Amino acid sequence: MDVKLTVLGNHGPYPGVGGACSGYLVEEGENRVLVDCGSGVFSRLQQYTGLENLKGIVISHLHSDHMSDLLVLRYAVDIMQNKKRMDAPLNLFVPSQPEDDFDRLNYKNAFNINKISKDTEIDIGGLTFSFRKMIHPVLTFAVKVKGKGGNIVYSADTSYSPELIDFASGCDLFLCEAALMNRDMGENPVHLTALQSGDIALRSGVKRLLLTHFWPGYNVEEVVAEAAAVFPSAEASVAMRTYDV
Ligand SMILES: [Zn+2]
Repeated sequence: MDVKLTVLGNHGPYPGVGGACSGYLVEEGENRVLVDCGSGVFSRLQQYTGLENLKGIVISHLHSDHMSDLLVLRYAVDIMQNKKRMDAPLNLFVPSQPEDDFDRLNYKNAFNINKISKDTEIDIGGLTFSFRKMIHPVLTFAVKVKGKGGNIVYSADTSYSPELIDFASGCDLFLCEAALMNRDMGENPVHLTALQSGDIALRSGVKRLLLTHFWPGYNVEEVVAEAAAVFPSAEASVAMRTYDV
């Protein structure tokens, strides 16, 4: 059985025209888990699955471009519970900070909220999720998903991190943010440049590199070319495309 990754949205920190921010559906057989839920993701998710068929939602960090659609998705859960189409809260796994953002998630009986800490390893519907803390202004975790058929590492948001190289080591599919280009790196970047994404992919020995978290102001082909200078098979993730892992 193959693990599949569907890219629902790959923009950040805001969606470009017709786009959506970070959101990725991971599936193995009937097991479906949503990873991140930025603006526009819930609408696109419903083209693939209803909420009643989702085993859980994992959020890498509480920046709005990775979680804002949770604030409307929870209304849908509540309504489905009232209509008896869902009989339990949806399992939600999120970092516990920033506290104000964490506290906002609690709504009626919509979510069964679990805090992610550094060492959490959890089984969600037969897929194993593990986490590694990244370098970003809020508590942020890279996410590893292991299924029977393969594994995926998702960088979340981070500046250059040796921890990410270790965490992604040898993975089948490396979904890595490339929010910046080298020319715009500045002195204290909170994101990776495409060049750094390629470098991390090379050092980790990943089998496949898919770039994501595209800033709408960039030409994606140029972003990919920058990463491909060090990791020649680098690809742009394509929204609404499903990848076999
Ligand atoms: Zn962020």
